[in-house]
Amino acid sequence: MSDKTLHPNSLALHAGFRSDPTTNSVAPPIYQTTSYQFDSTEHASNLFALSELGNIYTRIMNPTCDVLEQRLSQLEGGVAALAVSSGQAASTFAILNLCQSGDNFVTSTDLYGGTWNLFANTFKQLGIDVRFADPSNPENFAKLTDEKTRCYYAETLPNPKLEVFPIQEVSDIGNELGVPLIVDNTAAPIICKPIDHGASIVMYSTTKYIGGHGNSIGGVIIDSGNFDWEKNGDRFPLLTTPDPSYHGAIWTEAVKPLGPIAYILRARVTLLRDVGASMSPFNAFNFIQGVETLPLRMERHCENANLVASFLKERSEVSKVIYPSLMNGPPLDRAHKYLKSGFFGGLLGFELKGGREAGQKFIDSLKMIYHVANIGDARTLAIHPASTTHSQLSEEEQRASGVTPGYVRLSVGIEYHEDIIRDIDQALLSI
Ligand code: PLP
Repeated sequence: MSDKTLHPNSLALHAGFRSDPTTNSVAPPIYQTTSYQFDSTEHASNLFALSELGNIYTRIMNPTCDVLEQRLSQLEGGVAALAVSSGQAASTFAILNLCQSGDNFVTSTDLYGGTWNLFANTFKQLGIDVRFADPSNPENFAKLTDEKTRCYYAETLPNPKLEVFPIQEVSDIGNELGVPLIVDNTAAPIICKPIDHGASIVMYSTTKYIGGHGNSIGGVIIDSGNFDWEKNGDRFPLLTTPDPSYHGAIWTEAVKPLGPIAYILRARVTLLRDVGASMSPFNAFNFIQGVETLPLRMERHCENANLVASFLKERSEVSKVIYPSLMNGPPLDRAHKYLKSGFFGGLLGFELKGGREAGQKFIDSLKMIYHVANIGDARTLAIHPASTTHSQLSEEEQRASGVTPGYVRLSVGIEYHEDIIRDIDQALLSI
């Protein structure tokens, strides 16, 4: 189903699927197949030539994945999407679809550690120059841009700092210079729509809030269809010059009868075809289930996180609570500007006066809350970054990334709020 007038809460249930054409099943079936019977040799050759769109092989497309792609694309306000095997695969494809050896891109310094490693090490080894910009001043993106800059990259609500990225300010700079902004919106689905603020491409680790139940790894890239690749053609040879891997197709030309989907079509029919990091139909089904309750869950995550933040603020063991609504100055202004009114996300951090030892003791004392390296689960999760996710960094590097020795990260779940607070309370009393 495709009805742009539906509210996001309704799109989450209805976008991209009405019923199965052969069985009338209301739940999207798991099309657990590798391949699809062609009607004729002409049909097969049309599909391969992209003169007709349809299923060829599950590495490249699958009807269950297609429902997820359509649903997320409509929820986000995009024109098309591509499901892949993980959030890491999504950010890899999002960049490699524009950059080749000798090119560069500018990224915010406030990044998930896995993305940082991908950019600073693996992309560097591939000959892609990654330039890191402090997002507190959007002009830093302009300063690092040159004729070889292919895109900007940022996370909407990066942890541990939880300072909302200036999406519109950096998109405006990109529009002026002809550079698209890619936004990782993993931590803020439903409560932020980056495309409304000028982002050209949105990506998610669906592993987190979208799946919501901690059972499947996946990722998705959504194309806004808003970026004019042809106008800035010299910057995007991968989209505007003949592709030797596809009979010399020029993607911006080839998609003319299909709509503004050059970016996402190329990602599917070249990168996904060649690299093969596809989402399994079973995982796509789990993510579709997740999306159906995502708006409800996000409300509860945000309400509970807000209550936990208020509770922690009053505690003598805690020196600082890091939560968007508790910030001041530009970070608070951006939280209000970019996040849905009254919703500040499900992630929060706090610093324990007792430092590293107190942080570890707190985590070891939790009873209901899980100690795991994940976010966005329906269950409340906690981690002490200094002794886990950030332990390879020096204390100075940890501080630069926003991690102090006593910092604890919570991904607040949807349990009854008093149970979450009771568990935190007893763990605080034990330190
Ligand atoms: N982006 C963000 C913001 C993340 O937090 C993560 C994982 O924690 C990723 C991307 C990578 O996602 P995945 O684990 O699905 O590869």
